[in-house]
Amino acid sequence: MENFKDLTREERAAALKALGLPAFREAQIFKWICKGAEDFSGMSDLSAELRTRLAEKWSLETLSVDLVQSSSDGTKKFLLGLPDGNKIETVFMEYSYGNSLCISTQVGCAMGCSFCASTIGGKRRNLKAWEMLDEFIVSEKAAGKPVNHLVLMGIGEPFDNYENLCEFLRQIHDPKGIGLSYRNITVSTCGIVPKIRQFGQDFPQVNLAISLHAANQKAREALMPVAKAYDLKSLLEAADDHGKQTGRRVTYEYTLIAGKNDSLEGAAELAELLRGTLCHVNLIPLNPVAETGLSASSKKQALAFADYLEKHGVPCSIRRTLGKDIDAACGQLRKKNS
Ligand code: SAH
Repeated sequence: MENFKDLTREERAAALKALGLPAFREAQIFKWICKGAEDFSGMSDLSAELRTRLAEKWSLETLSVDLVQSSSDGTKKFLLGLPDGNKIETVFMEYSYGNSLCISTQVGCAMGCSFCASTIGGKRRNLKAWEMLDEFIVSEKAAGKPVNHLVLMGIGEPFDNYENLCEFLRQIHDPKGIGLSYRNITVSTCGIVPKIRQFGQDFPQVNLAISLHAANQKAREALMPVAKAYDLKSLLEAADDHGKQTGRRVTYEYTLIAGKNDSLEGAAELAELLRGTLCHVNLIPLNPVAETGLSASSKKQALAFADYLEKHGVPCSIRRTLGKDIDAACGQLRKKNS
């Protein structure tokens, strides 16, 4: 039986119309889906006869919560099961400004960054729009607390799954369902330049984070194969244009890896590159992944790196490491359980 949620909102409306139903039925059903409905039977504002008709034609698949890991700092990590048996992860985090959820966009990842657990084993498939929406619905329910910020920084490269990403963003933003503000959503990319440009046009209110990790072309290529396809210069131009076009500050993520990208010469190159642009640098202490043989910079080196940037006019922060006791870095829980 076909899963109703596999259809885009537009396709759903057309399919319901073909059954002779008025347009508002689609919105009614969408509201129930956003409440986590697992079948049509509880949709009390539809007649019993209609519920039966819908259930004869379609199923409503949902994600299962297969494992929960709770950290002493309030962070919760969820291993979620997809209908085809694949697993993905989400992370729930508490901040002073509210609760945030980090979701995955693909099963695995094709980008091959040398320090990341998600890419070991490659990309299996893209997540569908409804699967990303369900990540939010089931994780929020399992966390037992409201989520008001969303980051797409879990497993996968969002811009390698662009159409489903766009459909998902439109769905989660719709006030008829969850109604999450675009300003409270951040999409993180390893640097697929044409999609950065497209995204700025399609979703100017959504925040953009760019995984930079190195401030010169050679060093970046050594860490991130994607840099060979889209060089640093074109990436920074696209990011700068994005800032000008949207008026929004671009976040650069820079994972500090001992001996690879954490020297003060590296900080000087980074400052040179970014000074005067509308940006914020998020320094992330590496979460070591055994297979990579890489280790995190010392606290002293991270502070010196941050200090250099600040003194040279580049705003930055060192990301607080949450959930260290529960494998909260991308892809580590899935890897252990697949
Ligand atoms: N593919 C997207 C989003 C997923 S990764 C991207 O590349 O931006 C989210 C962030 O975590 C990226 O900046 C990524 O480079 C970083 N990251 C991946 N593995 C990490 C690790 N082991 N330690 C610290 N940061 C990591």
